[in-house]
Amino acid sequence: MTLHLDYLTLFPEMFGYLHTSILKRAHLSGLITSAVHNMREHATNKHRTVDDKPFGGGVGMVLKPDIAHLALQHLALPTHARILLMTPQGRTFDQAFAKELAKETHLVFLCGHYEGIDERVHQHLVTDEVSIGDYVLTGGELPALSITDAVVRLMPGAVGKAASPQEDSFYHGLLDYPHYTRPASYNGWDVPEILMNGNHAEIEKWRRREALKRTFERRPDLLETAELSASDRKYLAELSAERL
Ligand code: SAM
Repeated sequence: MTLHLDYLTLFPEMFGYLHTSILKRAHLSGLITSAVHNMREHATNKHRTVDDKPFGGGVGMVLKPDIAHLALQHLALPTHARILLMTPQGRTFDQAFAKELAKETHLVFLCGHYEGIDERVHQHLVTDEVSIGDYVLTGGELPALSITDAVVRLMPGAVGKAASPQEDSFYHGLLDYPHYTRPASYNGWDVPEILMNGNHAEIEKWRRREALKRTFERRPDLLETAELSASDRKYLAELSAERL
């Protein structure tokens, strides 16, 4: 199943990232196809204006609704396409949302700039409003690329055998365990002994416990929804008791 990605932007030059690393491989293997569209092509006046002053006064410029509408119409989208408007006021993107989007076959990213996009676009032309976090960026291009990367990583076959998204942070609701590589001792900093004894069952147990400990210490909120076994819960209870 191929996922098609459309990007509506005023800065198409920012999308070189689509053709590097895992996204490049996903294009080459036919897992994804993509097209970047410059919304300025839909400007009708001679200055190719895409924005205007806000009604009611105030600073900044607002992307015009007709420009976004014409750009979307030009794509002649199938009804199942998901049209994602990048906005700091949207649903916060997370791994669960990435899993949901990885099941789709057509995603459209509408990237705002300036003060944002005319509210009528939010109301009438998109299926989702998406934020990548509680901070404000200059445009929607970096959010669109961040979301794309997180979604494509989850598509079967995208990351290959060298890495596994199932073992990354958040996949099963926990932070990832710590990773080490050679040399075993560097600058007096040693790799935990257990990782070098070749006992895979013990290593798995240690990794699970480290993931639980990290999540307990850094992101206890994640434990409320993580998939936990009886022995995970027992270990977490021990960690809680140690804290008292
Ligand atoms: N005035 C808008 C507000 O406060 O909600 C912010 C406009 S921002 C400077 C310009 C564009 O960047 C937005 O239209 C949106 O496309 C994008 N953007 C900025 N921060 C974002 C975030 N956290 N998540 C998603 N998109 C964001």
